[in-house]
Order: sequence, then C-alpha cells, then structure tokens
Amino acid sequence: NDAGSSFQSRADRHLLRFGCDFARFVPVRASGCYLYDASGARMLDFTSGQMSAILGHSHPEIVATIRHASGTLDHLYSAMISEPVVGLATELAKQAPDLSKVMLLSTGGEANEAAIKLAKTVTGKWEIVTFTRSYHGVTAGSAAATFKVGRTGVGPMAPGYFAIPAPNAYRPRFAGVDWRRELDDAFDQVDAQCTGNLAAFIAEPILSSGGVIDLPLGYLAALKAHCEARGMLLILDEAQTGLGRTGTMFAFQRDGVSPDILTLSKTLGAGMALSAVMTTEKVSAVADDRKFFFYTTHVNDPLPAAVGLKVLEIVQRDRLAERAVVAGERLAAGLLRLKQRHASIGDVRGRGLLRGIEFTNVGSRDATSISNAVTEAAMDIGLAANLVRSGTSGGTMRIAPPLTVTDGELDEGLDLLDRAIGSVVG
Ligand code: PMP
Repeated sequence: NDAGSSFQSRADRHLLRFGCDFARFVPVRASGCYLYDASGARMLDFTSGQMSAILGHSHPEIVATIRHASGTLDHLYSAMISEPVVGLATELAKQAPDLSKVMLLSTGGEANEAAIKLAKTVTGKWEIVTFTRSYHGVTAGSAAATFKVGRTGVGPMAPGYFAIPAPNAYRPRFAGVDWRRELDDAFDQVDAQCTGNLAAFIAEPILSSGGVIDLPLGYLAALKAHCEARGMLLILDEAQTGLGRTGTMFAFQRDGVSPDILTLSKTLGAGMALSAVMTTEKVSAVADDRKFFFYTTHVNDPLPAAVGLKVLEIVQRDRLAERAVVAGERLAAGLLRLKQRHASIGDVRGRGLLRGIEFTNVGSRDATSISNAVTEAAMDIGLAANLVRSGTSGGTMRIAPPLTVTDGELDEGLDLLDRAIGSVVG
C-alpha cells in the first residue's frame, strides 16, 4: 500500500486551495440529513451542503428526475428553449406574480452578475449599493458587491460600488437610534459620495454569510422607497432564503414588498447547480429595447431546470415552508435553552430554519477562539454547522439543516451542540 497514493496525499498534492481548510471528514455517501464516511461514521448535516440541499441528500424523487432528464434532454444550444425551462419559469412566476420574467443560470454569483448588468442596462446608470456584510459571489460584478470577504488579491474592484451597514439588533451601532434614521443617514452619505448614477441596491433579506442578520420587518419597504426616490432598482438575492427556508416561499413575502429583480440559486437546485433571475414585465420590456446581453454555456439548460421544477413541486406539496416555521421554532427554542446553559452564547437569532448563534467572550477566552473550537468539536462528534463570521466581533455559527429535518434529528443536533460547547468552555 503506497502511502504516496493515499487519499490525503493525493488531495494535498493535487487540490488547489481556495480559502478554507478542507474538512477531515471525507464522505463517501450522503442520504437525508446525514453524511457517511468509509468507516460508516455519520455526520449530521446542519449546513444543507453549501446551504443548498433543502430536501436533504439523495432525495429519491430528485434522483429519479436527474436519471430521467439525463436520459432524455440534458443540454442544448443556448438559444434553444425546452419544456422544463418554460415549465420552471411558469411555476416560479406563479410564486411571485410580479416577477413573471425568468432566466435560468447555474450559480448565485452568475445570477447576481446578470441582475446587476440588467439593472445597469435598464436604468442607464452604473452605481450599485449594498450592505457592508454582504455576500453576492466571486465574479467581477458580484464580488464588487460583496463586502464581507474576498476583496483582496484581485487588484482594483469595479468602481461605483457603495456599502451601508445593515441594522444589527444585537450590536446596534448607536444606542437608541432606530434603523429608519440609520438608513436615512446612510443614504444621505451615498448621495453625497455617488455621481448621481445609482442603478440598484442589492441585498440579502437575511445577511447569512455576514452573521445571520435578519432585516427587521419594514426594512425592505423603507429600502424600496429609498430606491424609488432615486430611480434605482431593488435587487434581492435569495440564494439561501429562497424556496421556503424562512417560512415563506421567498423571504421578501413576509414584508409584502416585491423587488424589481430577484435572484435565486443554491436552494432552487437543492444541490444541483441552478440559479434564476426573475424580474418584472416593465424591466424586461426596457431590457429588450436596450438589447440586454447575458449569455452563458448553461443558460436555460433543460436538465437543471427539470430538477428545479421538481424541487419547487416538492417544497409546495410537502408544505416545507410551513414545516420550516414549526421546525424553526423547535430549533430556536432549543438554542435559547443552550444560551441559558452556556455563558459563551451571546445571541440566538434568525428566521425559520436559518438560525445563528453568536458566541461571546468568557473570562480570558475570546469569542473567536470559542466559536472556532466549538465548530471543530461539533465536527469531531458528528455535527456539521458553519462558522460564518469571525474576527473582532466574535463568531457566529450558522445552523441551517435541510427543510426535511425531523424533530428527532433537530434534537440530536441540539444535543451534539450542547456537548460541543460544553467540551470547549464548560
Ligand atoms: N449570494 C448569496 C446570498 C450567497 O450566500 C452566495 C454563496 N454563499 C452567493 C450569492 C454566491 O453563490 P455561488 O457560490 O453559487 O456563486
């Protein structure tokens, strides 16, 4: 048995690193909410893969859909459309009737790139505003709208991007100042710094990678009013919040405010590379006039579209948005119990099955080291949960299991988390 050909040494020799340490757990199989390694050890997946596998892993109907689609209609020339594509566009439009025009792409970054380009084309302007803890992708335009990570090592970013702080109830920037005033002030500053060419605001309804920061009810309406006053479009990025995770099909529906452009990705394919840009008739008509151009190899591909159609069908048929509310309450109640038991938990927040716990300093131990150690300890005993924010203001662990998670699996995850935290800070 040549040690040089072992899995680990081949990985070390041949995998390009991209900003994280690879997990020690190496799955060979995944099913439902669990991942299994070659020894049969299992890991409870509270990250839904990369926040995508809302139906759990290897859902039998998705497996059957992929089998069928790959054996009938897989991939086509970009200008050629097909029934799965028109079918998915039709079903998505039923969910958000104001956003009846749909384009299908592959990744979240790509969908945001298209959304930003669409907003620029339609408004004839080019300045973009977002939040300081935003994450919208790694392609040039979406990366310029990402103020959380990745702004190093690439030279100059696209010009004309501005970021304003999102309200954070746990860490208010100014005590006693409400978010409406902060938002008005932030827009005053943007107005002062921009060249009068504001095209769009791009926002996640819950800043997930930025620390699971839920925008308060009413915020989206205020944001939309600011956009309208300046002739800007509102782009909402529901990569993580779309398809029921927060308790409604799309998170913006809680607020009763519709964006001008909506992007969906991760959850739409439930693990397959599929994303969508949705917009209004009005935006689409101007885009046509102005010859909006955005072509990719996989635009409107039938195979991923067939998967998206099945995902949407299952989410509705199995009432997974409603399940996210009930399961989310059970999860939140369990996390609040952990907060009472562990001084290291400073805050529990989120909506539906997208929750975060922010760690805080305990004695001489700082929040960042605690959150890192808890995440590692959880992995060691069989629970995968993401660390989404670390640095001077601590670390937030994101908990987002598949929407198909059972009560028993939730309780098991809470128990593992309790043990992981206990092993780190007692
Ligand atoms: N938007 C949001 C809100 C995301 O969380 C992500 C991925 N973390 C993206 C966009 C980028 O998606 P992708 O990695 O598929 O390009």
